[in-house]
Amino acid sequence: MTGCGPVIVLVAAAMLAASRWNVNADRMLGCESLDCQSIPAVLASEWTGAKGHQTIMRPATQSRTFYSRRCAMNFCPNCGAKVNHQIPQGDDRPRYVCPVCKEIHYQNPKLVVGVIPEWQGRILLCRRAIAPREGLWTLPAGYLENGETAADGARRETWEEARARVDALAPYALFDLTFVNQLYLIFRGAMISDDCHPGDESLAVGFFTEAEVPWEAIAFKVIEETLRRYFKDCATGVFPFQTGRIQAPARKD
Ligand SMILES: [Zn+2]
Repeated sequence: MTGCGPVIVLVAAAMLAASRWNVNADRMLGCESLDCQSIPAVLASEWTGAKGHQTIMRPATQSRTFYSRRCAMNFCPNCGAKVNHQIPQGDDRPRYVCPVCKEIHYQNPKLVVGVIPEWQGRILLCRRAIAPREGLWTLPAGYLENGETAADGARRETWEEARARVDALAPYALFDLTFVNQLYLIFRGAMISDDCHPGDESLAVGFFTEAEVPWEAIAFKVIEETLRRYFKDCATGVFPFQTGRIQAPARKD
């Protein structure tokens, strides 16, 4: 595939044929299917209920596992000794401390970098091929690697997930997700052409206007918040730097 022209055509055709995002529209993008078989079991019941995006994003059975990430450490990565969990002298919170090599293993939030790839009035989204939220749509984004600038990381993720090239990256949004110890930095980026193709982590890629975005099938709340603000700014043509905090999904006991 040398470009996304056909995808654009298919998206437009799908929107003409459907008043809302549905199975037919998805199949026209060349995806395998958008039935419950392709959605993780934990999401299936929510999906078939045709409920809003917030319901899809907050299945009770998933919140306990996906959102209660533990960073427990048993052994020192340096020397293999069993570590202690204690407050180091002069510190104010417990850390994993190695009693042998004395290393203090600080644990800090991870930075996720991503891009809003722009092309002729539309943005590029990827449909996830991997957990979590397999089958749902998102922006190209992922963890920043060591030795990599934030912008280079964002470009890399765009290539890995959508085989697309972006240039002229401009920082657009910074969101705190303290409940998963993550920080999202999202750039706006102009695509250098409409060439794109699903990478290994994507089932499909496509171009969308605000009206065409599959809002009920956006994978992450932080991405939805980014896109809401982005399209609001598109209406004015002014893109001030956005910041905010994404709250943890409500638990259902
Ligand atoms: Zn050690």
